[in-house]
Amino acid sequence: MNNKDCIFCRICAGELPSSKIYETDNVFAFLDISPIDKGHTLVIPKAHYADLFETPDAVVAETMEAVRLIARGMIAAGFDGVNILQSNLQAAGQVVPHLHFHVIPRMLSPEGPKWISGAAPYADAAEREAFAARIRNSVAKMKGDAV
Ligand code: AMP
Ligand code: ZN
Repeated sequence: MNNKDCIFCRICAGELPSSKIYETDNVFAFLDISPIDKGHTLVIPKAHYADLFETPDAVVAETMEAVRLIARGMIAAGFDGVNILQSNLQAAGQVVPHLHFHVIPRMLSPEGPKWISGAAPYADAAEREAFAARIRNSVAKMKGDAV
């Protein structure tokens, strides 16, 4: 069931634009508009549930299957590591009340591992779409390889 006032429901219905990474009958993944690191992806169930507490186990499992596929695809695309973050309720920093997992690809750097904060805006739309295509193609190949 979708919620007409929810931006993530509207994104997966195609009513609002997004840089799509992956889609199944029940799950949608797209680039975060304010990336913590380039390639930062959001993975959501298409059905509207506010948070982890409201979401049926089977929907969480199906969404997490996509989270893991996309994380594997990021590694296969040449990223060095992946953070996965999921926030519930205002006190935890949840802003959009539609269950979503942040999947954030990371590169090794001389400064060492990064904590989950900061911002890494794209230089322009072309750079954003290049990151989307890199991850999207790797995930598609990973799915093709999966048995
Ligand atoms: P959270 O704080 O866990 O609720 O995260 C919400 C995320 O949604 C933030 O990282 C936002 O940058 C992201 N976001 C909000 N609006 C959009 C949008 N229209 N397209 C892509 N990402 C969005
Ligand atoms: Zn929604």
